[in-house]
Amino acid sequence: MKMWVNGRWVDSASNQVIEVIDPATEEILDEVPHGTEEDTHQAIAAANAAFPKWRRIPASERAVALHQTAAKVREHHDELVELLTKEEGKPVPENDEELWWTEETFDYYAELARHERGTVIPPGDPAQFNFVLKEPWGVVACIVPWNYPLLLLVWKLAPALAAGNTVIIKPSKLTPLTTLRLVEVACDHFPPGVVNVVTGTGSDVGEALVTHPDVRMIAFTGSTDVGKRIASLAAPMMKKMHLELGGKDPMVIAPDVDIDVAVSGLAYAALINTGQVCTSTERAYVHESIFSQLSEHLADYVSKLRLGNGLDEGTDIGPMIRNSFREAVESQIADAVSAGAKVLTGGDRPAEFKHGFFLRPAVLVDVDHSMHIMREETFGPVIPLMPYRDFDEAIQLANDSEYGLGASLMTHDAKLVKRFFEEVQAGTIWINDPLTDNFAGPFGGMKMSGIGRELGQEGYDEFCQVKHIHWDIEGGMKEYWYPY
Ligand code: NAD
Repeated sequence: MKMWVNGRWVDSASNQVIEVIDPATEEILDEVPHGTEEDTHQAIAAANAAFPKWRRIPASERAVALHQTAAKVREHHDELVELLTKEEGKPVPENDEELWWTEETFDYYAELARHERGTVIPPGDPAQFNFVLKEPWGVVACIVPWNYPLLLLVWKLAPALAAGNTVIIKPSKLTPLTTLRLVEVACDHFPPGVVNVVTGTGSDVGEALVTHPDVRMIAFTGSTDVGKRIASLAAPMMKKMHLELGGKDPMVIAPDVDIDVAVSGLAYAALINTGQVCTSTERAYVHESIFSQLSEHLADYVSKLRLGNGLDEGTDIGPMIRNSFREAVESQIADAVSAGAKVLTGGDRPAEFKHGFFLRPAVLVDVDHSMHIMREETFGPVIPLMPYRDFDEAIQLANDSEYGLGASLMTHDAKLVKRFFEEVQAGTIWINDPLTDNFAGPFGGMKMSGIGRELGQEGYDEFCQVKHIHWDIEGGMKEYWYPY
């Protein structure tokens, strides 16, 4: 496939390509241009040139364009689900859900943005008129990871366009195909330069975007390390930064739970997308009175989940994205075991697959907070379980992390719920239904999990800068001017 710049499909100046592989079969699916700094600068110039006209188009017309995109994506829903399953690996039902989110998010921001322009505020004097305008930033770079290539793109792209910005998309080099296809089938009605896609690496294309003076906002989702690098490059230029970073989400399971419900909820929260979710539950704290029963039950449940190609019906767990990611998870498990952890199930490579980066989901006990597996992001199919004595200890353990993305609680005890959502430091709190998002509910992290929010009104406002207008209508002499 080619890159989409200024309304045309183009090759890279490098004449080099990046091969995209299927993580379940290791076969080459396609190749995309290996974009360069020069390619990126061309896209920035196109987006910059398109901005003055796009920002002046009435919001109601931009809303129509976004609704059109949603409708066109729906027409290609099944095809995009299949392509996404091939390049990202998670099972079809999860990609079906990702496409649904993608379509609905375009509609959501089309509706929200059509009445957004700012507010009229009370003046300090009856002869004056004061108002606050919401204005687009200009050229916005959307830098996206591989784990939810479309969903995490549209949480940026839809509000950015709705607010009147022009956009350059940089997909992950591991999963650029569905992004290019989505733009091909659903974005051709935007004027040239309003939406651009440049494929390539973070060090070439990513940094060319982050450091160019005409890119006024960086909307980034990815690892905390890369987020720090972007912040260090963009801060001296005073760019708007919107950083959605890593996580180490806790789940607390209270003693009043139904064990079957808690086990299923925990397995889903930890293992969806093979645990490669920023909000995966990566550490679970279980009340000591039910710890043995729940851990045995969980190990049995997890050992029965079916690994396979995401395209095969009945697959619960797909492959990991690449071998290097699998090795990092194996090394965390080995490190925990050498420090005294016990593996109840999984953590090994299934012998039945000749190809693909499969790893059996693991359940670990005898873990503690001195181990990397309880402190560093795992981003793989591992559930480490720790018992707690009382709710004070559960909250202290949940907060004992540099991250603060999401946190889950399983209980019907309202007093525990209130303490949990008041005291746990996380951008999203889920009670009895982990990892369920809401279009109108802001999503993002506290502490090292990021700056800013996506989704909801908050996720629109990130893509606007505000301007206060103070207008003295009579325009006469003021008693507070000179001379004093
Ligand atoms: P990554 O940080 O390696 O890459 C993310 C994107 O940044 C890619 O497009 C990459 O090419 C680009 N990039 C890399 N180096 C760059 C640089 N120096 N300058 C500019 N761009 C650069 O992350 P990944 O492996 O693709 O995704 C997994 C990570 O993303 C995990 O840490 C996960 O927690 C995080 N994530 C966070 C959220 C959230 O909403 N908070 C959601 C999903 C994933």
